[in-house]
Amino acid sequence: MIVQAVQAASFGFLALFAGNGRPVATTCALSRRTAWFETMVETISHDEGLLLPEDSKILNRFFRSITASAAPLLLLDYDGTLAPFRVNRFEAVPWPGVRDLLNRIQAQSRTRLAVITGRPAAEIEPLLALNQPVEVWGLHGFERLYPDGRRELEPVSLGARKILDELHTALHRDAFGGLFEPKPNAAVMHWRGIPSPEAAIIEQRTLALFEPITQLEEFRILPFEDGVELRVGRDKGEAVAMLLDECNRCGPAAFLGDDLSDEAAFRAIHGHGLSVLIRPEYRETVADLWLKPPAELLNFLICWLHAASRS
Ligand SMILES: [Mg+2]
Repeated sequence: MIVQAVQAASFGFLALFAGNGRPVATTCALSRRTAWFETMVETISHDEGLLLPEDSKILNRFFRSITASAAPLLLLDYDGTLAPFRVNRFEAVPWPGVRDLLNRIQAQSRTRLAVITGRPAAEIEPLLALNQPVEVWGLHGFERLYPDGRRELEPVSLGARKILDELHTALHRDAFGGLFEPKPNAAVMHWRGIPSPEAAIIEQRTLALFEPITQLEEFRILPFEDGVELRVGRDKGEAVAMLLDECNRCGPAAFLGDDLSDEAAFRAIHGHGLSVLIRPEYRETVADLWLKPPAELLNFLICWLHAASRS
């Protein structure tokens, strides 16, 4: 289904339309004169009616807190959350409507927006292509790219650097049939798109190489969907914790993510706002609730836009 976010300027509300032109959801913006958050509850609901009453209460309470906040934090994963997966990751652009809504949220100058991704940070801006630069934490938090272009990397010890260089050389020579990605702080193996019997062998051989290295204190294995990473440095949870720590009198915060690597960020948000699993199918998670992309993600952002527009 193709979904477009369309603004009906004469009425001042937003509606989501399916490819057949039928509206699939109206939005919380309709309720400027009524209880907007209650309208939102009706519009964010899974096809199967799985959005639980408790979820609705959580969303209502959260968006009320955004309305009351001077500086809410909107923290977003990229792949699988704002953009559908592509085997060629450089083709992964946001779902229709996402870019426009993030531009509007940024233009309000109230929300602090940051992307926290497993990719190198520099890959996000050309794909997300917002009107204003956005802060990006890359490599799961190891790298920080500020909106003004400043870039920080965590230091890596000489010993860890040597091990990573050797791993990169070995996996460049033989990636076990998977797609090897070298990172400044990690060696990453992907098997997205590879049939399961071969993928299982790639995973097995990769773990046999990675696991002994985790005996060293700095190294950790980070599993994600269709891949695994051996890495040093901050994870997404530590990146979220840093943002919350340095942010004086801001919040509440939301973190939206899809992958196993986002679970650390969901845990870090606990007690500071809302964690949302964005995924076509439910899986076990510590997130506060689950929304299905793209329609429910768009509705969430529309509700954020309107909650943050209120004084
Ligand atoms: Mg993701």
